[in-house]
Amino acid sequence: MAKSYRSELVGCFGNPIDENPTGVVEEAAFRAKGLDYRYLTVLVKEKDLAQAMAGVRAFNMRGVNLTIPHKVKVIQYLDELSEAAEIIGAVNMVVNNEGRLWGENTDGKGYLTSLRNENIDVAGKHVTILGAGGAARAISVECALAGARKITIANIDRAQGEELVDLINKRTAAKAEFVFWEEAFEVPADTDIFTNATSVGLFPDIDQKPNVKYNTITSDMVVTDVIFNDPNSLFLQEAARRGAKTINGLGMLANQAAMNFKLWTGVEAPVGLMIETLRKEFNL
Ligand code: NDP
Repeated sequence: MAKSYRSELVGCFGNPIDENPTGVVEEAAFRAKGLDYRYLTVLVKEKDLAQAMAGVRAFNMRGVNLTIPHKVKVIQYLDELSEAAEIIGAVNMVVNNEGRLWGENTDGKGYLTSLRNENIDVAGKHVTILGAGGAARAISVECALAGARKITIANIDRAQGEELVDLINKRTAAKAEFVFWEEAFEVPADTDIFTNATSVGLFPDIDQKPNVKYNTITSDMVVTDVIFNDPNSLFLQEAARRGAKTINGLGMLANQAAMNFKLWTGVEAPVGLMIETLRKEFNL
């Protein structure tokens, strides 16, 4: 049999991109599964996205991840979208199926898997979310599609928050409500799952936490954070102090990377190894 000297190519396009650890995690998984894939971490400026996506086709790349600032703008260069990506209006991964580019959003699915791994099911639950940016959109839509009863969105920008609430009410069976987040946020007492989906607390600003009345968190709530660096965020520390069960952003990150691996390769991802690789990368 002729030997192939060609690796399958995947990667990530973004700006800034230098601190994105996904390549280390995916490459460790490719090695572990004996797959000849390479993950390229590529600086793509906003103005160059069209050429970069043409490059995906020209280089016959198997797919790419998209991160800031490309998750929404990339949609115009794709042939198809998953249902969730279409509702969310953003894509974080693309699969190249013989020249047809298919966009998916695995951020919210990775979040749901990190909850399921702790035996938490969102069906029938009231999920309260801080923020209305990309992560909040993906999480709230996936929770709604997974059967959450009620979604409360708190955001400092009214228009952005209301737009997300309208979208959930129109496109899913969940009931969504907006809370204008002007002062310290009081967590609704019937909240089952309380989530920080803002960027507050992300490294290097690890001494910051969202503006919340932390004594409104109770011990029967599950409190989750999208922040993965530092995974022991002040937000989660405050919640743990009130007796709540806490889940950090590492599981969401590793699980969405694992889903991307499976979608590109068709092979089950070594999730445990991927989480371990991430922890090592962050010296945890
Ligand atoms: P966006 O910029 O799209 O959204 C950030 C959100 O945070 C916006 O709603 C923004 O409000 C809000 N926000 C920012 N500063 C404050 C503040 N001081 N007080 C209240 N709200 C604030 O970013 P993303 O949604 O893409 O990412 C958010 C975080 O999620 C990042 O830290 C990212 O690293 C993390 N993330 C984690 C993932 C994981 O796998 N664990 C996956 C994806 C993201 P406004 O727009 O009005 O300023």
